[in-house]
Amino acid sequence: MLIDTVKLVRTCGGPPLSKDSLNTLPHLAPILRTARKADPVLDIKTALFLWAMEASTLAVLLAAVWLHDRSQRHFGLWSLGFAGHGLGVALVAARGAIPDWLSILLANAVALSSFPFWIAGMLSLAKRPLAGWAAIPVLTWIAGMLLEPIRDDVAYRIALYNLSAACGFAMLAAVAIRHDIAGQRLRRLLAGIWVWQALVCLTVAAISLATMPRSLQAAPFSAISTVSSVFGFIAVIMIGARIIMDRSEQRLRHLTRTDPLTGALNRRGLVEDFASLSSSKAASGRLVALALFDLDHFKKINDTYGHQAGDAVLIAFADMCRALVPTSGIFGRTGGEEFMAGFEVRDVREAALVTEAIRQAFSAARIETDKGPVSATVSIGIATAPAAKVDLDQLMSNADRALYKAKARGRNRTTVLSGDRVLTVPTDGPEGLDAQADRQVAALRRLVAKASPQAGLSKP
Ligand code: GH3
Ligand code: MG
Ligand code: MG
Repeated sequence: MLIDTVKLVRTCGGPPLSKDSLNTLPHLAPILRTARKADPVLDIKTALFLWAMEASTLAVLLAAVWLHDRSQRHFGLWSLGFAGHGLGVALVAARGAIPDWLSILLANAVALSSFPFWIAGMLSLAKRPLAGWAAIPVLTWIAGMLLEPIRDDVAYRIALYNLSAACGFAMLAAVAIRHDIAGQRLRRLLAGIWVWQALVCLTVAAISLATMPRSLQAAPFSAISTVSSVFGFIAVIMIGARIIMDRSEQRLRHLTRTDPLTGALNRRGLVEDFASLSSSKAASGRLVALALFDLDHFKKINDTYGHQAGDAVLIAFADMCRALVPTSGIFGRTGGEEFMAGFEVRDVREAALVTEAIRQAFSAARIETDKGPVSATVSIGIATAPAAKVDLDQLMSNADRALYKAKARGRNRTTVLSGDRVLTVPTDGPEGLDAQADRQVAALRRLVAKASPQAGLSKP
């Protein structure tokens, strides 16, 4: 407005602005007096207002994101953090226009109360509960305000606020480093910025104690430190946006690879993970086993107990398999009531031991459904191949042939295709696994039942 008026006077060829001009243009007098007094460096109050506006805008944006998907609690918590911070900073900037207790005592407490929300948001992102220590910055400020010498001296107040904020930034940095919220590079970057902000706050606190300024405006470096904080926030927001984008990409990828009913891998996830399983074991000289599972007479379960009870049986079976398939292996649902597992073994017997543990545990389980407890059985077909030359299609077709035999031989059994031989357990004839294997399966089951009661294995 001032620049426009001066330009207008100049371009209109008016007289130079002198004392007389002020008499002839009385409305310009207050503007020009202010212009003469104006500091060429960014004024602290303007910097604070800019900061408050930035924080409030972010609060609104984050609240909108949280309202869109309330399961993402971290957005809501960050929104509250930025809202508190924006309000607190705006109250500090309004010093002189509002009562001192509001712009000093309350304003700084409100601004510092953002740290617990930011920290809670970070912990929620890492699926951790909120920690009480997150309130230390604001509590430090409140404790200081109870002491008259600190409360009544602006230099001490600046130092205390900055010490509290330094503590808050250090805690944020610690959370970023310790918890698995993103890739290591992004976490280090975040922590680096927060450590930088903590150091700026500590420096301002030290300078304030050394120079004992009589007002916020007179405090050296306070405008520069404010601008540094604004840039710190911008950098954090950019990295935060990147982390959120990476996470939602991961979430989408997870959804495209997972069966929504059982939470196990779907066919696509199985194919992808089977490729990495066999390539990672290629040099081991061991075998890769592929087991196909098909629940027996599942249609009858649906017909007798209803579709929902059928779903409960599928979920219980998947949970059981997740607990029993070796952790380095893979497991998923290929469709309907059919599942698949892949894992590394020394020999076919070891593969049969794993699936027998599953089969026996499942047939012994009483699965709780809305129509009461339900029992079910599963037939299993296994095929193996040397890890160095695995062909998934071939392995699946062999395992499918074995599964067909398991069904044909009476269901509720494991059949292994080993070369030209077809071995079935429990045995109907002389070709089954040996008695020692049966004992091993029984021992394995007992161990698993003890280690994972959540798998729903009831006592046989
Ligand atoms: P078999 O012992 O020969 O395998 O007989 P089966 O009844 O298990 O096999 P069939 O292929 O005849 O039936 C499979 C049934 O699985 C039919 C279908 O309705 C049911 N099914 C497929 N997907 C789901 C599902 O997601 N939930 C439930 N509850 N049932 C499903
Ligand atoms: Mg089937
Ligand atoms: Mg079936």
